[in-house]
Amino acid sequence: MIKFQEIDLKALAPNPANGGRFEPMGLLQRIDPLFGESCRIVSGAKLQPDQTPDLEDFVLKRGFCPFCADVIEKLTFPFPSEIVPAGRIVNGLSWVVPNILAYSTYSAVGVYDTSRHFLHLGDFTEEILFNAFSGMLEHGRAVRRHDNAVRYSSINANYLPSSGSSLPHPHLQSSHDFVPLSSQRRVESLLRSYAGAYGSTYFGDLISLERGGARWVGKVGSYSFLVPFAPSGFHEVWAVHDSKTDLVEMNDEDTTFLASGLAKVLGVYEKKNLSAFNFSLQGLPVESAEFGSRILFRITTRSAIEPYYRSDVTYFERLCGEAMIDYLPEAWAEELRSEFGT
Ligand SMILES: [Zn+2]
Repeated sequence: MIKFQEIDLKALAPNPANGGRFEPMGLLQRIDPLFGESCRIVSGAKLQPDQTPDLEDFVLKRGFCPFCADVIEKLTFPFPSEIVPAGRIVNGLSWVVPNILAYSTYSAVGVYDTSRHFLHLGDFTEEILFNAFSGMLEHGRAVRRHDNAVRYSSINANYLPSSGSSLPHPHLQSSHDFVPLSSQRRVESLLRSYAGAYGSTYFGDLISLERGGARWVGKVGSYSFLVPFAPSGFHEVWAVHDSKTDLVEMNDEDTTFLASGLAKVLGVYEKKNLSAFNFSLQGLPVESAEFGSRILFRITTRSAIEPYYRSDVTYFERLCGEAMIDYLPEAWAEELRSEFGT
């Protein structure tokens, strides 16, 4: 009932090695059944970095940083005590503090590790990720206890300026609103109509269809990791929870599993000379379980951090709603599987 649509766009281009003779180029369009957006899988383009970006200057250029251990208490404000009685949430070296910019009714910034002004991709260990996610989830639960009109939660991240991050000290952010994000609205609507039309659940059917297949990455406890059929960006990976729908339902075990899988993915990114990323961990209200909602984690890489970089978001992505990818999702899943031992 899930339809994976792939269309051969039958593109021709001149081959310089053959006197400019027009030859078939291999160009596919795929449509993601969940988000409804398409991607183009091109061949012959070299959009991936061939060397590790030099981050030395960026790491050393240490200006004002409110997230370093020696100043975080002085330079950040506590949460209102009726929401977080202790003012701040501290989990080992990870801190959760209010964001000075309001982008959601309730939000927070999580610092993975206050003792390290910079983390390379390979430095994101399971422990560091666990501490950061569990602090953000604790804040999310506190928000929900405080205001039961809030129903839509997500935990998101920009890493490095090319992904949208404004501070080098690695951090993540949350959104807790009484309205859904566009992506939550889309997923909620599709899951409901899918369950109504077919009497089964989208994510249940997706996992049954993908488990053990060409885009399957592996199972880490309660999370299934896979590469989406039609990615929205480069090196995209999804993790789908077995049964839970709202982020605030996640327990420490779930968080450990997610952190463990994510540490593996980031390790592969580093090996491939990739540097920046965005991720989003999204849920829907608890009652969405009726139509099969599941917590969904998505991560994609972003352009390498280098001066005058070519953005990975072109008019195709920004205005045409169609990502351009230069490799097959199935080949990417195969690379990941070896790291996941599957
Ligand atoms: Zn810092």
